[in-house]
Amino acid sequence: MPRSHVKVFVRTRPTARPYEGFRVHKDGETVTVNLPKEESSGLINNQLESLTFKARSALIRLTAAFDGVLENVSQDAVYGAAGAAAVDAVLSGYNATVFCYGQTGAGKTFTMCGDGRNYTHRGVIPRALHQIFREIDMRPDKTYRVAVSYLEIHNEALYDLLAESPGTSSEALAIMDEAAAGGGCNVRGLTQEFVASEEEALAQFFAGEQARSTAPHALNALSSRSHALFSVALEMRTSEDAAERAVVCAGGVSKLTLVDLAGSERTKKTNASGAAMREAACINKSLSFLEQVVNALARRDAHVPFRQTKLTAALKDALGGNCVTVMVANLWPEAVHLEECVSTLRFASRVRSL
Ligand code: ADP
Ligand code: MG
Repeated sequence: MPRSHVKVFVRTRPTARPYEGFRVHKDGETVTVNLPKEESSGLINNQLESLTFKARSALIRLTAAFDGVLENVSQDAVYGAAGAAAVDAVLSGYNATVFCYGQTGAGKTFTMCGDGRNYTHRGVIPRALHQIFREIDMRPDKTYRVAVSYLEIHNEALYDLLAESPGTSSEALAIMDEAAAGGGCNVRGLTQEFVASEEEALAQFFAGEQARSTAPHALNALSSRSHALFSVALEMRTSEDAAERAVVCAGGVSKLTLVDLAGSERTKKTNASGAAMREAACINKSLSFLEQVVNALARRDAHVPFRQTKLTAALKDALGGNCVTVMVANLWPEAVHLEECVSTLRFASRVRSL
């Protein structure tokens, strides 16, 4: 199998009722899901080139390989596998993105953000901030500027979570193309808070989290109905010419983008009212286009529909550009979530084939 440009990890959340047909192999990189034959016909008829299916009596066996399957592992271990290398890349002047994908309840927010302010359970974002400032402190010969921003995409509208009034969708915000931004996806008009320490950066992150859950457009469990992109921009200057010359990548700035996507379950509810229906349609649309973008990239299509949704425009560089990209596919391995598990595994192995 060719080495993929996107590293993909599968993380399973703990459950009291694990699906007995779900297995992680000893190599730590392969999962097998045994599907009852009668239930699975619908699932497997759906383009599954990158998965292996083997029919066996009453079962269909699905096997998929990843860069790692993280089962019963600590937040620290998840960071070591999926986060640290991305941060290393950013400290070396590259752009990097880590994103979590999976159904609501599968552990995306736990993986990316953590569990509130619980220190042991802190997720990829606070750990990345820690690593960045630790490394900066170890390089006294260099001068760095670090800025953080926090963007939320809900109903195809952009919200600046670090703005004075974060609940207002801003017309002034616009996702810029690579060309316009001089490398990396940038959002014009988005607040960039310069931070001088891990504490200052964490304070911005928590302020953004607060805004995400209390903004006027917030509904119940809003956080799983929107996409959140936390970015850390890092500019390195040598101390001799701190004023002028930026020495890292194009533009002098490298950028880490950490993404907590909306739940990947497709809402089929016909009884949803106007607002809920529009919301579901927006999520379905952005995640469907995310799949279409990944499929088009995998087929090496000339046209890739990045511009179709705000999410795919924001992730253009992460998926199609010169960027170190890591995906964490969050699974909830219970029998009732079998369909979502299969669909997440399918998308994850497609991404890994990029
Ligand atoms: P999502 O963001 O995908 O909707 P959450 O991250 O909110 O899911 O997780 C749902 C619940 O499960 C939360 O209460 C979270 O704390 C818990 N949880 C998820 N993953 C883990 C894990 N690996 N270890 C312990 N608790 C977890
Ligand atoms: Mg969540």
